[in-house]
Amino acid sequence: MSAVFENATLASSLAHSGSYLTTLHNVQSSQPELGLIAQVWASWYVYMNNDILATGLMFFVLHEFMYFFRCLPWAIIDQIPFFRRYKIQPTKIPSAKEQWHCLKSVLLSHFLVEAIPIWTFHPMCQKLGISVSVPFPSLKTMAFQIGLFFILEDTWHYWAHRLFHYGVFYKYIHKQHHRYAAPFGLTAEYAHPVETLSLGFGTVGMPILYVMYTGNLHLFTLCVWITLRLFQAVDSHSGYDFPWSLNKFLPLWAGAAHHDLHHHYFIGNYASSFTWWDFSLDTEAGPEAKAEREERMKKRAELRAKKAA
Ligand SMILES: [Zn+2]
Ligand SMILES: [Zn+2]
Repeated sequence: MSAVFENATLASSLAHSGSYLTTLHNVQSSQPELGLIAQVWASWYVYMNNDILATGLMFFVLHEFMYFFRCLPWAIIDQIPFFRRYKIQPTKIPSAKEQWHCLKSVLLSHFLVEAIPIWTFHPMCQKLGISVSVPFPSLKTMAFQIGLFFILEDTWHYWAHRLFHYGVFYKYIHKQHHRYAAPFGLTAEYAHPVETLSLGFGTVGMPILYVMYTGNLHLFTLCVWITLRLFQAVDSHSGYDFPWSLNKFLPLWAGAAHHDLHHHYFIGNYASSFTWWDFSLDTEAGPEAKAEREERMKKRAELRAKKAA
């Protein structure tokens, strides 16, 4: 019996309604006060009548669909010369062969590496107390939690990614992700399985720590968070910086301009979503940041020499 309705009698009376659409119709007539997305969600759990399968399938499909759905516009834009003016490294348009290689590798890694945690997700949610039931939490709660996850993930990403640029970690793990000096959308998840798991901890592990501490998290919030984080990862690898890109409106948002420089110069700009870690720890990438850093070091040395004299 699905746990989507806290009222078990309601869940059992709606189960075995027949097709998914009939289930949805029945849920809508018995629960008109729920929003449409909550009705679609509840009907899915009632229709599946197996929460492990319902959560596992939903997560896997959500990830695949959102990832490729968000990559597709970038692959199309790469074929349209008009958009070259917004490309950060305009001479480096990914070839069909490069894109095909990347697509095959990403698909293989999704099915081999990510399918396993996805299938064990529901039992883990139950253990941790992540709710699947309707109604959904308020918009305010969701916005607060997702905002916090963005900050926590960015912090984890900054330090783990910085570590991946050291000697053996780079050579045996992170080098794969740096195959493309000019990234494109699909390269967001083109990485060694160890990297996928360890950087992925920022996306999945942070909400887990949060729910362990607070006991308050809904699976729907997690789905929205993962979707937004996927969009952020794909967009930051897109290779395009538009006048209407988010970083033009949100000053601390990293965007593609930030991460493209990381792929171009290999050093600096280690954070994922925001610019504050690289700014405050002086690890910004690119020739301008390097010149500024050297200028600062020169001034400091001069000051020290003056004091010593
Ligand atoms: Zn890197
Ligand atoms: Zn990257």
